[in-house]
Amino acid sequence: MTDHSQPFHTIAGQPADARSSIEDRYSRQIRYSRIGLDGQERLQRARIAIVGMGALGSVLAQHLVRSGVGYTRLIDRDIVEWSNLQRQMLYTEQDAERLLPKAAAAAEHLRAINSSVIVEPVMVDLNSANACQWLGDVDLILDGTDNFSVRYLINDYSLKSGTPWIYGGAVGATGMTLTVVPHETPCYRCLFPEPPAPGATDTCETAGVLSPIVDIIASIQAAEAIKLLSGNRDALHRTLFQVDLWNHAWLPVHISEARKDDCPACRNQRYEFLDEQRRETLATALCGRQSVQLSPGQSACLDLDAMAQRLSETGQVYQNPYLLRLNLSGGMTFVLFSDGRAIVQGTEDLAKARSIYAELLGN
Ligand SMILES: [Zn+2]
Repeated sequence: MTDHSQPFHTIAGQPADARSSIEDRYSRQIRYSRIGLDGQERLQRARIAIVGMGALGSVLAQHLVRSGVGYTRLIDRDIVEWSNLQRQMLYTEQDAERLLPKAAAAAEHLRAINSSVIVEPVMVDLNSANACQWLGDVDLILDGTDNFSVRYLINDYSLKSGTPWIYGGAVGATGMTLTVVPHETPCYRCLFPEPPAPGATDTCETAGVLSPIVDIIASIQAAEAIKLLSGNRDALHRTLFQVDLWNHAWLPVHISEARKDDCPACRNQRYEFLDEQRRETLATALCGRQSVQLSPGQSACLDLDAMAQRLSETGQVYQNPYLLRLNLSGGMTFVLFSDGRAIVQGTEDLAKARSIYAELLGN
């Protein structure tokens, strides 16, 4: 019979030292024989980067932070919007109201889930100029982006540095995933040699996306990550795994023979996406969102307080620790991050967005 007078148990029925007990927190995972205590310790020593903290990234981060991966870097360039809440599982209405960057909001929620691991939010647009800085010291890169050029960049970086990465994509009710182990499996470019032309493929903006497919793809990615990081490389699925959830079709395409002899990246060490140099400010339409992103060729370190003061002469300014937003005429808004990146909302006109950027920042 339980002695209820013992102070050892808290009201919730948890042992008083549960907070510090690794064995207790991860007991169900450790009990799974392929993980065990050794696998758990490996997970706790592991460092990962998740690129893109949208729908896939939300699920990836939850699984891996809960599993006890010791260090997780969250890389994302966006802020939480209302249209995200249908499928981006980590975010709340409050995050959208507070105009929080996704990486910062995610880090806040993930730290509340597991305070015993390190979660680092990074609010940047990953590109060839900063890839080494943000991917340089991790054991595994997870793709949570919806962006082809970033995937080709990650593939190049992975091969050049020998860091595995796990691709994932979902649109409509279909999705696919691939685990790339450099120089062992085919790489992303062996299977998809060139990025599709703009507008050639469906996107979440044009075709929509159902939240369960995102969960399934990200969960397969997370399982692959746990296998890799816990020392179970032999258990990787080693396919291009495709799922059509609407028609309940599961299609693992075998790729053991798919390494291409003429692959520029994994055979010829030509890293075209990583080595491209850029000096000028890049303007990109954020498809279907009436927004243009401006990304300077070299990242800056702006004093947001000083900028807010300067811009308040132009219009009404809202500021939080990560960004400031200026209301412009014609219903447009200008969101500026401290690294010099900006999003002009309310237009898809690249030239117009570029000139607003130049006018406000004086370059
Ligand atoms: Zn290749």
